[in-house]
Amino acid sequence: MLGGIALTLLPAQAAPPVLAGATFVVDPGHGTRYRDGRELNVGAVGAHGAQERTVVLGVGEDVARLLRQDGARVVLTRSYARPFRTATILRLDNRARAALANRLHATAFVAIHADASPDAGRRGTSVFWLRPNSLTLARAMRRRLRSLDFGEAEFRARDLAVTSEARVPAVLVEIGFVSNAAQASQLSRPHVRERIAEAIVAALRDTFADSRDGTGGD
Ligand SMILES: [Zn+2]
Repeated sequence: MLGGIALTLLPAQAAPPVLAGATFVVDPGHGTRYRDGRELNVGAVGAHGAQERTVVLGVGEDVARLLRQDGARVVLTRSYARPFRTATILRLDNRARAALANRLHATAFVAIHADASPDAGRRGTSVFWLRPNSLTLARAMRRRLRSLDFGEAEFRARDLAVTSEARVPAVLVEIGFVSNAAQASQLSRPHVRERIAEAIVAALRDTFADSRDGTGGD
């Protein structure tokens, strides 16, 4: 009964932060302006004026806070302190967000977006990735986001500015449709955004907890 003895001797609160040593670049999408203040990349605006760029900034900040509680280092491409980026070419700005993760040799890059569609009935979360080194993370994101019961829109490899630029494991998640009145109203609630952030962080934990080399694992 050695196993039983060992179990009873385990201290209750001795576990080290599970993501200590990991670095994540968290990218709340859009929110880019020209130098003169005009909007370059405003993002989707949906039902009841729900703004993608505002919703995803809140989720990104929640994700960053939770990851830091797990001991990870987090770099946000936009934050409450600096909500707007400055650029002149949209695609280059998006590539720069992922290039930052490459430069930092980040454990992973996570872009957070919200969807919009002319079809007001469309709903659900999506996960996109491109390179094979992102697939384990993409699957974990899918599993965790589906557990929110928002439905699923898409899950596929997709050549986007951020997924093609990133050399580290990278995903772009769409956290729901701001063009869907019910989802827009959900996304406007802080506790719903917190649940989404928890799902994103759970997927990062699933993939990278106790990984120190950034390659993830199954
Ligand atoms: Zn977007």
